[in-house]
Amino acid sequence: MRLILLGPPGAGKGTQAKILVEAYGIPQLSTGDILRAAIAAKTPLGLEAKAIVDRGDLVSNEIVNGIVSERLDADDCKPGFILDGFPRTIAQAEALAGMLKDKGVALDAVIEIKANADELVRRVIQRGKESGGARADDNEEVLRKRLDVYQEQTAPLVAFYAEKGLLRPVDGMEPVDAVTAAIKAALPN
Ligand code: AMP
Repeated sequence: MRLILLGPPGAGKGTQAKILVEAYGIPQLSTGDILRAAIAAKTPLGLEAKAIVDRGDLVSNEIVNGIVSERLDADDCKPGFILDGFPRTIAQAEALAGMLKDKGVALDAVIEIKANADELVRRVIQRGKESGGARADDNEEVLRKRLDVYQEQTAPLVAFYAEKGLLRPVDGMEPVDAVTAAIKAALPN
């Protein structure tokens, strides 16, 4: 199963990805997690990305495309993968299409987790408090920036994948279990 989880920050992509990892035995590829690990380890990539991630902007397509291309080559991605937080721009989606074409594989579905902006602000602020501020980008000001960036740069992917017949919208405002059930129902058997 090769999936993309698409949706604004705080919609529950990470939560659902972790549940699907267990259910389908395929890895979660989160560009956000990979970038945060690089930032924490102060690698050259992390040092380059830190200020951009902290202010809620997107790091360059070149950087994330490189991360994903390398990650998709790993053996554990052979049976499939769940992309969480990538692609975020049309250019990234096109780069991904090229990578998959080179491998001779195709996406099965793009799950769009739909969510209401006010509720997202509430959830992300809660997440920031619960994690004791572990994520510098989980505060209201940066979140609003991330929501704007989503609307401008990522929302166009909804039409992009709908046109390819891959888009499966689900209501992300339902309880976690109900969202998982809706995702499973939307996936091919
Ligand atoms: P996330 O954990 O997916 O919300 O990502 C956290 C932050 O990492 C984003 O706000 C961006 O700064 C950066 N990031 C993650 N994925 C991407 C991507 N596909 N393209 C550009 N920047 C990204």
